[in-house]
Amino acid sequence: MARRKSPSSRLIAAGLPSFELGNLYNRWPDINIPYGGGRQGGISYSAQAPVTFLFTGESGEQYGYNDRFDDEGTFFFFGEGQEGDMTFDRGNLAVQNHSAEGKALHLFRTVAQGKGKAKRKVQKYLGEFVYQDHEWVTAPDVKGALRQAIIFRLVPVTRLEQIELASVEEPAEGMTLQDARDRAIAASKVNGSQDSKKGSRTIYERSRAVRDYVLQRAAGKCELCNQFAPFLRKGGLPYLEPHHTTRVSDGGPDHPQFVAALCPACHREVHYGEHAQSKNLTLMERLQALEGAGPT
Ligand SMILES: [Zn+2]
Ligand SMILES: [Zn+2]
Repeated sequence: MARRKSPSSRLIAAGLPSFELGNLYNRWPDINIPYGGGRQGGISYSAQAPVTFLFTGESGEQYGYNDRFDDEGTFFFFGEGQEGDMTFDRGNLAVQNHSAEGKALHLFRTVAQGKGKAKRKVQKYLGEFVYQDHEWVTAPDVKGALRQAIIFRLVPVTRLEQIELASVEEPAEGMTLQDARDRAIAASKVNGSQDSKKGSRTIYERSRAVRDYVLQRAAGKCELCNQFAPFLRKGGLPYLEPHHTTRVSDGGPDHPQFVAALCPACHREVHYGEHAQSKNLTLMERLQALEGAGPT
């Protein structure tokens, strides 16, 4: 049976792409050359690294649309496609599927730096996001004809991180590990035809479904050191923390192949330890063996 290679283990061994909030980067040398992805356009998805880069300020404006944040920090990002109705392929599909594929969504704002001849574009890092849903709007295309355009709603990962550590309940009566797994996998995927106006599970519910399954799978033991959780939560369940192996930050739905349940010490170590990268790689390999041939 052909096994899907874990996403870019070679690159992960060299370190996950990591950027400082608010810092400025040059697109080619700092982003696309080291981590891959197309060097043009607003959505740049990498075949080598577990990342998709979004550049706001590249496309929307020319069609009279401004990407923006709402009061809660949700980011509205204009999809790709110059002419005619937008479609869910290429970059748009990469954004929609990033969770199921274990890819981090890193958002940058393209800004101008310098004056006159020295003027150039740089990329300001706005953080890591998770696709929540999208809506369709009527907007002009590059020739001025009205067409259907996609607006993605993206939630900052920082808003989802706490959810995973918050209170955990006993699995419902009769909920088997397989049921929990099915729910988690469904939560990591999004139905292409679903938009926000139709009832769909919230990103918080999706995030919890993944977490609950991963904790159930671990059955009280850390998936890195194999030791029992060091203490119990209020309510008596073992305390373990979900860790997203292909992300810099935890939080948000991901296919359970990319999420491990760790004891707090291992979790800190896999983020900040001297051997963080090799430990993370060990985890990825273990999860892949545990979850089979890859996203299904
Ligand atoms: Zn551990
Ligand atoms: Zn983590």
